[in-house]
Amino acid sequence: MLRDPSIDLFTRTLGITEPWFVEKVDFSHEDRRIDIKINFRESAKFPCPACESKNVEIYDTKERTWRHLDCFQYATYLHARMPRVWCHDCTRIRGAGVKTVLLDWARPGSHFTLFFESYVLTLAREMPVLAVARIVGESDDRIWNIIHHYVDEAREKEDFSDVRKLAVDETAATRGHNYVTIAADSEAKRVLFATPGKGADTIASFREDFVAHNGDPDKIEVVSCDMSPAFIQGTHNAFPSAKITFDKFHVSKLLGDAVDEVRRNEQKSHPELKRSRYLWLMNPSRLKAEQQNFLNTLSQQHLKAAKAYQIRMNFAQLWEQPKDFAETFLKKWYFWATHSRLGPVIRAAKTIRKHKEGILSWFDTHVNNAIIESLNSLIQAAKRRAKGYRSSRNLVAIIYLLLSKLDFGLPT
Ligand SMILES: [Zn+2]
Repeated sequence: MLRDPSIDLFTRTLGITEPWFVEKVDFSHEDRRIDIKINFRESAKFPCPACESKNVEIYDTKERTWRHLDCFQYATYLHARMPRVWCHDCTRIRGAGVKTVLLDWARPGSHFTLFFESYVLTLAREMPVLAVARIVGESDDRIWNIIHHYVDEAREKEDFSDVRKLAVDETAATRGHNYVTIAADSEAKRVLFATPGKGADTIASFREDFVAHNGDPDKIEVVSCDMSPAFIQGTHNAFPSAKITFDKFHVSKLLGDAVDEVRRNEQKSHPELKRSRYLWLMNPSRLKAEQQNFLNTLSQQHLKAAKAYQIRMNFAQLWEQPKDFAETFLKKWYFWATHSRLGPVIRAAKTIRKHKEGILSWFDTHVNNAIIESLNSLIQAAKRRAKGYRSSRNLVAIIYLLLSKLDFGLPT
């Protein structure tokens, strides 16, 4: 009798090894599905899943089905009788002897093969979970279960003992007041921790998680964050040896907001300022020629907004200064800004002086929150496509999936 060639094909592609073998493959062209029957040799013994014992007697078996990747656009299922073993060693030690054996093709309790789950994780990195659910024809709850399982498992194995430089920030999780706080390793450029909420408490929970993953809080050299008192206080408490460097982007944003406030106050008497908001806020190198021309025209009219803009642009040159000159530069700038007679600019300048040390510390540490800023845009894009994550827990899982460089140990 000729051996069915599809048996060899599936034995190889599924990675089935002794004592398991592919017994039968049924193609149903009407139902557009493939059913693969896997079995084990009658004489087979299995290793105990809980202890070192290698050849344990089978206790009983139970029929199980796993969904596999579609093959040739046919829904594909694996079937096997799954053995439970009676382990005498486990009985002696722990009193419970019957255990389900571990399989090559699926993890315990899952309805899917490892290949299928690996595919789901790949898709979930590229698109909203609802779209993944639609593509593979499973409920989004099941997709979330897979994501949570692998993220939790991979995070358990995480080791933070080498981490020295941190970036901490918060992002709006949904419209309204839900926030997620994110802590990243700014050298390895990956997220270490994410949690719903914001403020000093979230830094404290990060510290707990950090220690649980072999992180040493006393070895943290620098934390990059914004100038909010909650982050500053939280960082001092959780990482007492760390230097704080205020993130450049957040410092610049402070001045951008001041320019905008000046512009808004002025546009009542100068209607030509209306709709110019973004011209003052954008990086000049990204302005189109006509935008630049318009901005130049506005700048020549001795407007307060133009003056505020000059002060802001001048501040940006701080980062170009040689380290030894930075403090002098900031002092000069501060004098100019505080004599500008522009209320919002003066307030921003005072905030900057109050945080001078953490701003100038950048010249030693060169850290910023760029990794988290890039993450923000990713989360915003994902939210728009998914019409919002249903819970902060799901959002946190997606953040880990996309930005923690976790090792899921799955076949690809
Ligand atoms: Zn055992």
